[in-house]
This record gives sequence, structure tokens and C-alpha cells, in this order.
Amino acid sequence: MSYTGPDFEPPRPRRSARRRTLTVVLAALVPGALLGWGVYAAAGGSGDGAGRTAPGPSVSAPAATGDDAKEPAAGASPPAAASASAPAVPGPLTGKVVVVDPGHNPGNARYPDEIGRTVDVGTHHKECDTTGTSTDAGYSEAAFTLDVAHRLRDLLVRQGATVRLTQDGDRPYGPCVDERARIGNEARTDAAVSIHADGSAAGNRGFHVILPGAVHAGAADTRAIAGPSRDLGERIAGRFVRVTGSAPAGYVGGGTGLVTRTDLGGLNLSKVPKVFIECGNMRDGQDAALLTSGAWRQKAAQGISEGIVSFLRG
Ligand SMILES: [Zn+2]
Repeated sequence: MSYTGPDFEPPRPRRSARRRTLTVVLAALVPGALLGWGVYAAAGGSGDGAGRTAPGPSVSAPAATGDDAKEPAAGASPPAAASASAPAVPGPLTGKVVVVDPGHNPGNARYPDEIGRTVDVGTHHKECDTTGTSTDAGYSEAAFTLDVAHRLRDLLVRQGATVRLTQDGDRPYGPCVDERARIGNEARTDAAVSIHADGSAAGNRGFHVILPGAVHAGAADTRAIAGPSRDLGERIAGRFVRVTGSAPAGYVGGGTGLVTRTDLGGLNLSKVPKVFIECGNMRDGQDAALLTSGAWRQKAAQGISEGIVSFLRG
């Protein structure tokens, strides 16, 4: 996601709502590279193991139903297939459903009219989707998000969860942000996370988790999920710090790694606990070196997975 894109307006500086449940993890608990600064991290359970596993059996989910809020795009709409991976073996997350939303779509740039049309996100109208950002060398955010989503899916399936992706490179563009939210809502999801990487100015580094602010307008009503989503986001931020060694972003969120937004359709329309994570800044050379590393992306997925596991297990 790029702050310059229409789906991502510059966040307002966060001033209110001190972290309620965060605990400070002393620098001694994190790798040596992080010494010298403390970070906020969620309290709670242990990790869920390292390493990738083969994905569980994939099944085709029913195509999403029509979007009442959307104006028909010119031409035919693409199929709205959300793939689901059922667990191969029972685990601590048996019975839990997680929706993983890989931000953007590698094909979006080829469909400017389709992704540029507006959809109703309750509080306002905004573009269906955006192209996302990329590193200077051309590694796209969409490729990054899909790769991390696959790694995250595999880790969660290994824990027994049923995981549904909002897109899996199986559609020409999108889905639109409202559909991304609806897939989570329809899947009776226990937790949802949207994967992104930022497109901020070079020199801005680090990750941040975006939490839904409480909104109530039109089809948007996040009042019931704002609290649980904050819990989810705090746990993901804490685990992400611990596993990746990356620092919370220094350019948003006041160094907490947490930012609350009320302008994102994918959050505003969610009826289930959901957060976004900007894993790093693709426009910064040092962050880009991490984001383009498969080993680092595995750590990123691991950190996100551990946060979700902590949230789901309470
Ligand atoms: Zn993005």
C-alpha cells in the first residue's frame, strides 16, 4: 500500500488512546540489533514454531455473491473466488477460521478503469482497489503480499486453522476493498489480516499495524470490532517485533507500531476482528532489502502468525 495511493490517504497523527493492554518488552528481550530502544509488544502466549509446511488441501470456495453497493464495471466482472485451505491435521486452532487478505493484485495496473471505479465503504466512496507500491528495483507490493500470505497461510494451517485468502493470483484484478471485507464477513471469520508494505519516503523505516477506528455510517459499523481488533493488532505488532527484529515505524504511530484509521474500506466494512499490517517501507533501500528476502518474509509471516495464534487462543 502506498500513502500516495487513493486507498491510503495520509493517516492523521495519532494522539489519543494510549495502549491499554500493551506491555513494554525490555530491549534485553529482543535481538541485539534492537538494543537501545524499547518496544511495545502484546503480552501472551508462545510462538507457533518455525518453518514452512506444505499447504493444506485447497478447495474452491463458492464465488462471492454480488455486491449490492457496487456499480457494475464496464464489461464483465471477474470471478470472485476466494480460496480456502483446510487443515490437514488437528491443532490448537482447529475450528478457527482466518482470512488472509493479500493487499492489491499483480494485475491491477492492467485494469485502471475497473479498479478506479468507486465503491461505497459506508463512511464515503473510494476506489475499488489500487496498484500498490514497489521497490526501486521493481519488486511489487502485490507480489510481496501474496508471498507473505502464502507463508502465513501455511503456518496457520499447520496449527489447525482453516485459512481463506481473498485472492490468490486467481483473478485478473482486485477484489475491491468492499469485497475484501465481505469475504471475511461471510467466512464467519475469527480473525482477518490484510497484508501490505508501505510506499513512504526513503528514510522512513519499520512496520506498523493499522487498527480500525470506531465508525458508524452507512454499511460501516466497526463499534463492535474496534476493541477486539486492537487486541489482535497489538499481539501481531508485539510478535512481529520479536520475530523479525524490525522496529515499529518511526514516521507514523509515534513509534508504537500501531495506527488507528477510519478511512480504509477494508476495515470500515469488516464485521470481524481485522487489522492491516504494513510490513515495511518498499521505498526505503534498507527496508526493501528485507522485504525482498524470502528468509525475512518467512519471519514476517511467522510474526503475524504468532500474533494471530495468541489472539485466537486468548
Ligand atoms: Zn498496500
